[in-house]
Amino acid sequence: MSLSRRHWFASIAATSAAAAQVSPTSSGHVNPRKVLLWESTRKEFREAIESGTLKAVIVPTGSTEQHNEHLAMINDTASVTLVAQQAALQLYPQVMVATPVAVGISPHWMDRKGTLTLKKETFLAVVHDICESLVTHGVKNILVLNGHGGNVLPLRDSVAGWRKEFSINIAANSYWNAYNREIINKYMESGVAPGHAAEFETSFAMAAFPERIHWENVDYAKAKPGLGIKDPKSAEQDEQFAKEAKLASTAKGEAMIDIAVKWTANRVRTLIQEGK
Ligand SMILES: [Zn+2]
Repeated sequence: MSLSRRHWFASIAATSAAAAQVSPTSSGHVNPRKVLLWESTRKEFREAIESGTLKAVIVPTGSTEQHNEHLAMINDTASVTLVAQQAALQLYPQVMVATPVAVGISPHWMDRKGTLTLKKETFLAVVHDICESLVTHGVKNILVLNGHGGNVLPLRDSVAGWRKEFSINIAANSYWNAYNREIINKYMESGVAPGHAAEFETSFAMAAFPERIHWENVDYAKAKPGLGIKDPKSAEQDEQFAKEAKLASTAKGEAMIDIAVKWTANRVRTLIQEGK
């Protein structure tokens, strides 16, 4: 990965306006802002859709939830938005990224303080309405790109109904669908991806947004008695993930991000082809 791209990775903020730098793509230099719906003007969006240039929109879904002692709670939203944006840049100007859904379905983490959760119905209603808005404006192909485990099944169970309702081409995938067993074994010493705040997610954050990793004063053994995790199995897993996080590296994160970006770009390319 080039230095400028790494710098760009470090600068991105999932739902903020930090996307002002120049990123290289195959067709030259494109300001990464240009693929973000929420950073575009109505004029830019209208012209892209009316000219037929804009063919698909990615809707990222993430979470705001505990990521063990060292990762920021926005981790999943930031990760999936980054993959979506990089994939859209590869397909520029055919693809844009909609405003990410930054809170997901996380009732299973509510005994860890700080986690926000939506009820399944609320989450699905938000995703549905974002897609419906896009359809109203003439978008014909939508990829809901997910970055949080708790959202997977509800999205999978809803997408066929939305396809019928909207009469458009719509699919839902998690960005880690890019990883098969062979890839995971090649890059992850723990043999686990995506996992939770462990080797994979920490590697991803090291490569993409190291400013969201906070090892300062983290002492898992000290914190453990006060964590208040009710389910013993979950407590055991929490500790295991904290250990596996130490296996993380920037190089692993870069390799895994590249694979996810290429896979996502391919998925959207296929969606556009199918929608023709
Ligand atoms: Zn996560």
